[in-house]
Amino acid sequence: LLGPDGVPAPTVFAEMSALAAATGAINLGQGFPDEDGPAEVLEAAVQAIRGGANQYPPGRGTPDLRAAVAEHQARWYGLDVDPDREVLVTAGATEALAATLLALVEPGDEVVTFEPFYDAYGALIRLAGATHVTVPLRAPDFLPDEADLRAAFSDRTRVVLVNTPHNPTGRVLPVEVLRTVVELAEQFDAVIVTDEVYEHLAFAGTHVPPVTLPGARERTVSISSAGKTFNTTGWKIGWLTAPPALVEAITTVKQYLTFVNGAPFQPAIATGLRLPDAVFAGIAADLGSKQAILADGLAAAGFDVLRPDAGYFVIADAAPLGHDDARALCLELPRLVGVVGVPVSAFVRPDHVDGYRSLIRFAFCKRRSVLEEAVARLAGLA
Ligand code: PMP
Ligand code: GLN
Repeated sequence: LLGPDGVPAPTVFAEMSALAAATGAINLGQGFPDEDGPAEVLEAAVQAIRGGANQYPPGRGTPDLRAAVAEHQARWYGLDVDPDREVLVTAGATEALAATLLALVEPGDEVVTFEPFYDAYGALIRLAGATHVTVPLRAPDFLPDEADLRAAFSDRTRVVLVNTPHNPTGRVLPVEVLRTVVELAEQFDAVIVTDEVYEHLAFAGTHVPPVTLPGARERTVSISSAGKTFNTTGWKIGWLTAPPALVEAITTVKQYLTFVNGAPFQPAIATGLRLPDAVFAGIAADLGSKQAILADGLAAAGFDVLRPDAGYFVIADAAPLGHDDARALCLELPRLVGVVGVPVSAFVRPDHVDGYRSLIRFAFCKRRSVLEEAVARLAGLA
């Protein structure tokens, strides 16, 4: 977990948010919205606090939120999930990932992920003492090569961790890729762990939860979170669904990480998960239009832009503007144009930076006026 110089290092998100705060630059680095989400969700939390939901909730989450998660899986994906035995509420997707990896993985085991990968994956795999095996996603389409995916599996593969929709590329992974993942997990007897925190933020393409594919149900831990869907990243309410024996094992670890969290936010997120389909469609459409403002603006400013299918982020290549080192450019961007982004090199292993060196991730989960101002500023780079 040490930085390049061997000293404890903050995450790239903390680093870049601090840079934005220190310089007053527009923060398109760390992915968090600058507006509140659905009013019903906020009001439900206020009511829950006033109503006394202020002590430890049950260890697996409030029965009502677990029921809402099960209803959500049935409504959106046709899954039959037992709210008492197959759902665990967690402190964000992050705790679900941590508890799952610590519960399932032993030193010497291998964990397969795509690369670039969300930064916590690398750290958690190391904390679990496991070996991280990566499958590259490369320009121009950032989809995995089937041969690379097959080559990543071995008899030591314990977990394959699949993030779709994907951070930082914004790709919705195609169902053929997911089918190959399931086939390989069956062949090597691995557990599939998914990270679907952007499940409701697909504005192009359709998100397919891996657990819905044949053969996946009995070996899949599906992880999601409320932060992105309802603009409540600070509430840290996440959950996982899995077969009872896996939930049992993961709960055993989770009880010693946070024990429980977010008593008044759990009923509020249950309210959110039960909102009508049209609300969810509106959330994705809103982000799609914001994505267009940023992606079009970056292209006009001279970047090569990877158009995302989903999520909060767009990847822009600064090489056409003469910048080959995105990390150095990100540190200079506040001074040059008053904008903060995150170098994609933060999502790859230090020895795998080739091919990603000139890429920057910018967040578009911001108000339109903020995105328009950011784009106008970035045009000054040319
Ligand atoms: N997974 C991915 C892919 C993410 O981008 C994030 C953060 N936005 C998380 C997990 C963490 O989610 P949470 O805040 O619910 O812990
Ligand atoms: N998931 C958010 C991102 O990718 C950041 C969360 C964090 O700061 N750890 O920007």
